[in-house]
Amino acid sequence: MMLNDAQAAAWFEFVNLDTPIKNMAFITVSTGVGGGLVIDGKLHKGTTGLAGHIGHIAVDPDGPECGCGQRGCVETLASGTAIERISKQIFFPPVSNVHLFSIADEDDMAERIIRQSAGAIATLCTNLKAILDLDVVVIGGGVGLASGYISRVQEAINEKPNFCQVPVVAAKGHYDACLLGAAFQFNELN
Ligand SMILES: [Zn+2]
Repeated sequence: MMLNDAQAAAWFEFVNLDTPIKNMAFITVSTGVGGGLVIDGKLHKGTTGLAGHIGHIAVDPDGPECGCGQRGCVETLASGTAIERISKQIFFPPVSNVHLFSIADEDDMAERIIRQSAGAIATLCTNLKAILDLDVVVIGGGVGLASGYISRVQEAINEKPNFCQVPVVAAKGHYDACLLGAAFQFNELN
């Protein structure tokens, strides 16, 4: 069975962890939100290869409609596309996501928009911890690796109940995690 990009990236991140562990989730926050799961040291693909489509865990029943047909998927709240959508309603002229991050220190609205995204990812992390008892969550993607994003996610996680808190770390594959992952899959798994 072929791996999807996010699963391949998850495997790449897993074998490149500084501390060897058994249970890990990879979350990429970019134009969408995707991911991959490693359970008991094995990449979890699932019956049909769907495993890891964690951007479509619905966390807000009153949230925006998602392309998948549900409301309030993590993706509709946290992705780069979501950040852009929300920021367009507030900033005129519109600002890019890169600019939004750069002004967050002095602009409360920019900070709130980024915290909303990080908060949804934090909820995703604690849900995954509660389901899978993970050792670590690796976060990548253009938004995920933007300056200060992961620390905002960790702060939001630390406000949740103890049992579902989980450490988050930055992906090593950076913006090319998917490509690296795919190349790695080709070399190691086939
Ligand atoms: Zn969805």
